[in-house]
Amino acid sequence: MRSMTSVDFQLVIFDMDGTLTRANLNFDEIRAAIGIDEGPILEALANMSDAARMKASLVLRDFEDRASETSELQPHAAELVSAIRESGRPVALMTRNSRRSVEIVTRLHGLEFDFVRTRDDGVNKPKPDPVLDICRAMRAAPDSTWVIGDFHYDIVSANAAGAISVHLAEAFDVLPDWSSEAHHVVQSLREFSTLLGIQLADATSS
Ligand SMILES: [Mg+2]
Repeated sequence: MRSMTSVDFQLVIFDMDGTLTRANLNFDEIRAAIGIDEGPILEALANMSDAARMKASLVLRDFEDRASETSELQPHAAELVSAIRESGRPVALMTRNSRRSVEIVTRLHGLEFDFVRTRDDGVNKPKPDPVLDICRAMRAAPDSTWVIGDFHYDIVSANAAGAISVHLAEAFDVLPDWSSEAHHVVQSLREFSTLLGIQLADATSS
């Protein structure tokens, strides 16, 4: 466990699906529509022929469009992003989704980020590259950077980059084994705000 006090942090990186928004991409349904049995979708696409990949990309795009257009924010998501930025620290979004789907979500909910890193921008989670790219662009040290996500890849990517990883475990009745790889586990974005030492406007009312 890190001893860094929360006031020292320089940057916060949020995952999108299931972290800032309530998870609404059904990966089993997408895999069935594309015709793959199991495993991560982007990696399966990468191994297809050009023609098959083009067709599968369109199917994936339709699923992502629909999910983004009907997305709902997690409680306190917009407020927490604003409050961190108002404290003088940049906030970034890191996702395996397309830039197109991120733009739908941010426009729909009026979210603003200092940096957005999508799958269209280079190597993806679970590799450390997206975290390191964001840190470099924001001139932040990885070990002073918080990364929060709801999936194993978020934690693997953050840890490999040397950042502070947080598992948002709200959707899990039973914690998955990999949850213990995260430096912190929280049940809500409100709980995460406490870890950061960021006060939300209505913190006294609940
Ligand atoms: Mg997620």
